[in-house]
Amino acid sequence: MKHLCPHCGTRLHIRTSRAVSLTSRELYVRCPEEHCAYTGKAILSIISTIAPSINPNPLAYLPVGRTRVLPNGTGQLSLLPE
Ligand SMILES: [Zn+2]
Repeated sequence: MKHLCPHCGTRLHIRTSRAVSLTSRELYVRCPEEHCAYTGKAILSIISTIAPSINPNPLAYLPVGRTRVLPNGTGQLSLLPE
């Protein structure tokens, strides 16, 4: 995961984190640039499902994200005579 310091643009380091819910963690971040030394908190959350779990937790409901829409009528000509 790459997140940049909002003050100097250096890549932030995650010092520690704690769970705030089943799908979210609060991250404590620190800028390693010694002339900046910014520290802050961030939230990391799972917001949707791309592929469902083989062994799903019933308490972990996450909506299915946008899926690729297959073309309905492609307009492609048939190669076989009708
Ligand atoms: Zn910084």
